[in-house]
Formats: sequence, C-alpha cells, structure tokens
Amino acid sequence: MFDRGFSHYLTYGATDQHTIVELSQIIDGVIVPATVAAFQKDGTGGFVLSLSARESAPDYVIDPRFPLYQQALRGSERKPKKSHLMLSELLEDEGLVQASDPSPNDFDDKRLAGIAKKWVEFNLGYTEVDAKFQKYAERLGERILPQDAKTPKYIIAPYFMASGVEDPWWERSQRFFELTKEAVGSDSECLRVVAVKSADALPDAIESISEERIGLWVNDLHELTTDPADLAGYLRGIRAASASEISVFALYGGFFSVIASKVGLNGSCHGIGFGEHRKWVELPSSGPAPARYYSPALHRYVSQEDAYQLWRIDEEFFGCQCAECKGQNPLRLDYHELMKHSVRCRAEEISNWRQFRLDEISAKLKEQYARFIETVESANIAERDKDRLLRLPRHLPNWFRAVDEIG
Ligand SMILES: [Zn+2]
Repeated sequence: MFDRGFSHYLTYGATDQHTIVELSQIIDGVIVPATVAAFQKDGTGGFVLSLSARESAPDYVIDPRFPLYQQALRGSERKPKKSHLMLSELLEDEGLVQASDPSPNDFDDKRLAGIAKKWVEFNLGYTEVDAKFQKYAERLGERILPQDAKTPKYIIAPYFMASGVEDPWWERSQRFFELTKEAVGSDSECLRVVAVKSADALPDAIESISEERIGLWVNDLHELTTDPADLAGYLRGIRAASASEISVFALYGGFFSVIASKVGLNGSCHGIGFGEHRKWVELPSSGPAPARYYSPALHRYVSQEDAYQLWRIDEEFFGCQCAECKGQNPLRLDYHELMKHSVRCRAEEISNWRQFRLDEISAKLKEQYARFIETVESANIAERDKDRLLRLPRHLPNWFRAVDEIG
C-alpha cells in the first residue's frame, strides 16, 4: 500500500476471481471487504490464500468497513443481511445488527476492545488453511504450498465515519484504533483509517493524528460529480498529510486519485468495473459491477453502446490498444474482458500520467476535453446522440479547475 511509487489495489468480490488471477502481475494488492470475508469464508479464504502463496503475489488486507454498523440494519419490514449477521457473529457482538441508529455512547471502551480482539484474531488466523486452499491452488495451475500463504499485509483497525474531529464518533474511532493496536501487539502492523464525511474535514483530521501512514476514506467523493472546490479541498488535505510526512492510501479512488498522487497520495483502490467512491450509508448494498466500458479518453465508465458510437466516430481517439481490446469494437468485449480492460486502463493511467507535473496534467486534460468536444460536434450522427455524448465529459473541466486552483 505504501512501498511503491503508487500502489494500485483492487477490491475483491466473488465474481472477480478470474480478473484478479489474470492480472495479478499488474496490480499491487487486493482489499477484501470484511463482510465478504466473513460470509464466504471458505471460498474467499481459499482464493485469497492460494493467491498469496504464489511467487510475486499481490498483497492483501481485509477492510472492516465498520461504518456499516453505524446505522440500523434491521426493522419491522427489513430483514438483516446474512453477511452483516455473520460478520457480527465473528466479532462476537451480535448487537451490532440493530433496529435503530446507534450513538457513539453505545460503544464504550470495553465493547470496542472486545470487537478489536476478535477482529485481530480473525486477521491473524486467516492463514489457517482449509480444504478450499487445494481447490483454488489447483485452479491457479501452479505448485503452491499452504505454508507459503501470507497473513494480511496490515491489520486495518475498525473505524467509524465522522463529520470531523469535533464529532464524538471521531474520538471513538481513534480509541478503536488504539485498542486494536494493543490487541495486535508486535505480531503485525496495525493500520488506521481516517473516514470523514467531507473533504473540508480533512485538514483538521490530518493535523490531529500522529500515525506515519493511514488509509483514507472521504465519504461519497464521487469524482465525476464533485465540484472543483471540493476536489481541490481533497487535494489540499492530501498535500497537508504529505507535508507532515504522513503516507496516505485512498480506500476508494478513480482517475482523480492518480492526479492526487502528484500531491502525495501513495495509492488507491477501486472495485473491478466500478466502486471508485463510496457513500457510507450505502455500505449495506453491494453487488457485481454492471457491464460497462471504461473510456480511456474520458477516464470514466460509459455504456457499451456509447463506447461503440464514439469508437465509430474516431477509432484512434476512442479505441483502446490494451491486450483485451486490441483496437477492436467495444461491443465485442465480453463481461470479463470489459473488467480486465478497465483494470489495464488504470494501470496504464498510473504509469503514464504520474510522469507529468500538475500543470502538464491540467494542460493534457484541457486538450482531451477540447478534442472530445470538437470530434463529437463535427461527427455525422443524429443530434439526439450528439447531445447525449456531449454530456459525458462534464467532469473534465471540474478536474482541471481543481488542479489549477491548487497549482
Ligand atoms: Zn482496452
């Protein structure tokens, strides 16, 4: 997460095994959400462990995604999800799945310490190999041994989402980290996550911590719709961390996180085919990514139909030469090819764009934006399609304005 130029992580989902195995050489690590780890314990464990036992395996960590339990998860008309119950059972705190929103006072030190203890045991016990290991090892087609399976790179301490340092949840979150760290002892390294509801809370949050490295989650930082002022605030927060010699890894990030590497961001993670931002109240819902095409010219997902139209207008500008696409019609990509293409694009973006200075990034984004508008406006297509396509790059001006603002 922190040791290379910019670490590229993927979120693990059960439908992504194929993509992760095939692309394990071009990524740096995998984040397994705790609910997935708890719910599909054998399958996920077998897969992750057999992957970790390979030579030059990507690292992995388990994200507790604890803000899930900062809200009501059951009600008269609502049945709790099995994965939420299973994680609460694993943490031996079934009261976590409750009918009303909890308050910070519901989490006293004793309770936090109990959860932290179970969480650390789960992380450190993750290498207890079961029968599934062999099944996945065979699937990987390599000779790998159970004793080579690795524990998570860091133990991510459970955390709460807070609106800022004055929010009582912030103090509880800090305490959660300290208690988890105590439970970890010297067996592994414990990683703190700073989870804040908005980018304006970042500077104070950064100033109040003393850790050398943190995971960062700015709630719902949707790169395509966030306005330039908030995007600039996000960049300033990361720059402040970097100035205080704090290494920061973004738990959710798309192309904008690659730009943020220029102010010190050390890496980011994204779901395969989606999941480049996350709203904490939506943690309870999750599922596989829709079939969409990641447009390298726009740095965003578009429908396959739009991707096809753009490709027909200008194959060179809108096509992709990655190992999945080879310049072909985007409609020809099947689901897994779409997913692999998206990961390859991000890897390319990381290696290409990180060479530029911030002013060069801004100039390149302006150039891409202008070329897009000009190309689509002069295309010989129906006005209706033109209007729709012209709305696709609206985020690009926000991005270059944010970059220009912090200069
Ligand atoms: Zn491609």
